[in-house]
Parts: sequence; structure tokens; C-alpha cells
Amino acid sequence: MVAEASFVVHIPATIYQEMVEHVSAGYPNETCGALGGVDERAVKHYPTANAAERPDDFSIIGSADLLRIYDDISKYDGDLIYYHSHPITEAYPSLRDIEHAKHNGYLYIIFSHRHHPDLPYARVFKIDLQGQVTEGEISIDE
Ligand SMILES: [Zn+2]
Repeated sequence: MVAEASFVVHIPATIYQEMVEHVSAGYPNETCGALGGVDERAVKHYPTANAAERPDDFSIIGSADLLRIYDDISKYDGDLIYYHSHPITEAYPSLRDIEHAKHNGYLYIIFSHRHHPDLPYARVFKIDLQGQVTEGEISIDE
């Protein structure tokens, strides 16, 4: 029996392709970016630099990029969906990811390059204030 996904994030195939290219270009470092979402449907892609001190170990969007993205997303009353890649580990939130997510409230899309040189794959999660992780489903729409 397959459990119903608790939520679904819809991503147009063109945007998903851009995300895969962005995280692949950053490999073997962690790479990050954001999507602007309306009703859990991605409408815009914001690839960014990774501002973490050690990009091989963590990823974070710099404050200037974040302000620019927030400003744009507010124009269409969207939500920020955060995404980043794990070069080696599973596409699942690390303890550090969970600590950050608890405070920022973003949906988290995580790519994994575990099967490199095969293309990275992605999973999506909601992380609540207690750090409880719930997985959703990514629907890649034409
Ligand atoms: Zn992570």
C-alpha cells in the first residue's frame, strides 16, 4: 500500500531542468537557489551563489541575493521555496538543515548527487518548528 503524499509541489519541466543544470554545475560543492511558489506551484527560478563559508559542507543564500528574491516574490505574493544539493549524502535534510528550516519555514527541495555521474534526483520536505520532517512529492509538469 502506497501512502498518499502529504503535499505536492508542482515544478514546470523547464524550471526543473534549470535546477538540475545549476546544481550539476556546482558539483562537487553544495549548490543552492530558490523558487518562487504560488500555491505550491513553482512559477519562477532564482539560481544563486552558495554563500556558506565551506561550500563543500553546507549551502546558504547570501543576504543580498535573499533580499532581491524576497523583493521579487512579494510582487506576485508568492512563497520562497529553498533548494540545495548534497554532493555525497542522501537527498534528506541534515541536522543542520533542520535547525535552519525550523526558523525559516521554507519548503526544502534537496538534490542528491549520490549516483554521480548520473543526474541528481530531488526530494521535497516540510520541516516544522519542532524539527519534524514531512516528505511531499515533486510533480514535474510539462
Ligand atoms: Zn543539506
